[in-house]
Amino acid sequence: MRENSSGEGGRTLGTTGSLCPVCLRRIAAERVIEDNVVYLCKSCPEHGPFKTVIWRGLPSYQAWGKAAGHLSASPAACSAAAAGQCPFNCALCAGHLEQAGTVELEVTERCNLACPVCCSAAGPDPSPHLNPDPSLAQIDAWCRTLLAAGRAFAIHLSGGEPTVRHDLPEMIQRIRALGFNYIQLNTNGVRLALEKEYASELKEAGLSAVALQFDGVTEEVFEAIRGRHLLETKLTAIQNCAEQQLDVVLVPTLIPGVNTGQIGDILRTATALSPTVRAVHFQPISYSGRYPGLPQNADRITLPEIMQLIEQQTAGQFAAASFRPASAENPYCAFHARFWLQPGGGVITTARPANLACCRPANPDAFSSHQKQAFCISAMAFQDAWNLDLDHLDHCALHVLSPNRELVPLCAYRLTSARGQRLARALDNAHTT
Ligand SMILES: [Zn+2]
Repeated sequence: MRENSSGEGGRTLGTTGSLCPVCLRRIAAERVIEDNVVYLCKSCPEHGPFKTVIWRGLPSYQAWGKAAGHLSASPAACSAAAAGQCPFNCALCAGHLEQAGTVELEVTERCNLACPVCCSAAGPDPSPHLNPDPSLAQIDAWCRTLLAAGRAFAIHLSGGEPTVRHDLPEMIQRIRALGFNYIQLNTNGVRLALEKEYASELKEAGLSAVALQFDGVTEEVFEAIRGRHLLETKLTAIQNCAEQQLDVVLVPTLIPGVNTGQIGDILRTATALSPTVRAVHFQPISYSGRYPGLPQNADRITLPEIMQLIEQQTAGQFAAASFRPASAENPYCAFHARFWLQPGGGVITTARPANLACCRPANPDAFSSHQKQAFCISAMAFQDAWNLDLDHLDHCALHVLSPNRELVPLCAYRLTSARGQRLARALDNAHTT
């Protein structure tokens, strides 16, 4: 049986909807367990069967689902988009089962790197193929749309690489002035390292935290994932943030065979840089945007494998049993745990307070100001055209505000077919609203 094709055997754990990764038509899918490995099996009438790993090892898929204390909450204000068309015209519709918690604003498509792996397929600067950056007035209008959609969500400034914009500090000031009190910058850290005063400018403008791409502790890893040596750049960026007491979350993209052997080293680096680095947020590679070659199951790492590797590579300091499903999203999208770092290197696992997803900025101000010694480890598995489970999208709490001002689940927004076609065709339009 060829990989990614569905086959006989195994036991069904449930049915859901998905897409054909080639033509993006909606098709039925089944979760099938074989020897502690769960696959999403589906078949396109035109492009045949696909069998994609979604869960390997322990805790078991079933036990993890039972551990989730999931609370559904309908969106405060729904989009006019018709319900039941997921993931087409996907938005925060009446069929959605979760409020948006965090909203990404894509403030540029430009980037100062050209990484071989890029979930948003950002391009070099300048490039004639990119849409122009949205103006500050347009971003103000986006924020007013968000306020009308419910509340002052936690904002992640994303792209592209937001720091290529000369007006980023002013943008942050304006978003703050509109009432948003948690603003995180998703960045590769290049500018933060090159310009020593830049962290100060961003902090004074009202930036809450920096989410820094940090894929490993050797240059071979950065060369493979980002196309150049970046380790010293990353460490300098963190140092410059430390001098401004600007919180940093390290965000490694995990790729089997590239950096999954450095999970423990990344955590040791992070804890050594605490309290500036207050969390590590792992992201198993998802095959949307730009990536080298079509994915096979060996090219995937799943959430339980990451939990086990964290424990193994830290000699049990951060135990796999510490981790819990996210309280808002579908439990199979994310895990997290909060620890206390002790003087001398000890670690204490903390019980998670009810309704506080520790590594998400649900209560960011309380987290940032009162719990400096805390250290969080989390992971989020973004979905792609192969492993897309539509039940996950219904519970998504991480949205992108699209150019036509709809709140779209991030995975749906970035979803890309094997042919390079993006599901969110709205992205192909210029920022005209
Ligand atoms: Zn197809």
